Amino acid sequence: GAEVVLVGRSNVGKSTLMRELTGKQFSTGGKPGVTRSPNHYDWSSEDFVLTDLPGFGFMEGVEADHREAIKTDIVRYIEEYADQILVGVVVVDGKSVVDIIDRHSGPDEVPHVVELFYLFEDLGIPAVVAVNKMDKVDDRDDRLDDVCDRLGLLPPWKQWQDTVAPITAKRGSIEPLTEAVRTHLHDAGRDDL
Ligand code: GDP
Repeated sequence: GAEVVLVGRSNVGKSTLMRELTGKQFSTGGKPGVTRSPNHYDWSSEDFVLTDLPGFGFMEGVEADHREAIKTDIVRYIEEYADQILVGVVVVDGKSVVDIIDRHSGPDEVPHVVELFYLFEDLGIPAVVAVNKMDKVDDRDDRLDDVCDRLGLLPPWKQWQDTVAPITAKRGSIEPLTEAVRTHLHDAGRDDL
């Protein structure tokens, strides 16, 4: 059936966000790199499935080749189920995402976050970047402009509110994300849901 998928590096607050979206408990801060399989949940207020894909990127105690395997599995899942994925949500940590992207950008390197964002777009799946932990970000507009810039979206970020959604999952402040997702469901003709 129709699904919305969530991807993100470990520790960006994906479990916290899942808890807000579904009303269910998720183990946060647990041992990373263990949950390899996608988990499916009903989005409490909507009629589709929310799929939590494993966290990727650096995790303490997880070997580099295992980390790569996790990322490869995520890409495979998205490609395999592209037809039924209505929206792809890339969750990032607003405090560190720009630094992480810059650190991993180079002639032969595309940061995972950027790669996944374009994977969704290439597959015709609308992507929303949930910029989490905004409570820790002081220069809000500048930071969000930088996020847009790194994704190839021309700032100011306010022009991209269907794509860039600043949230603070920990405080349940996730309205920009649910609004952005709803916009895409509406565009896909799913506003009957
Ligand atoms: P996951 O690994 O992506 O599932 O991340 P978790 O949901 O386990 O969260 C990782 C850490 O970030 C935990 O300590 C959370 O309490 C914290 N966290 C999650 N959301 C927010 C947020 O909006 N603001 C702040 N400051 N911390 C958050």
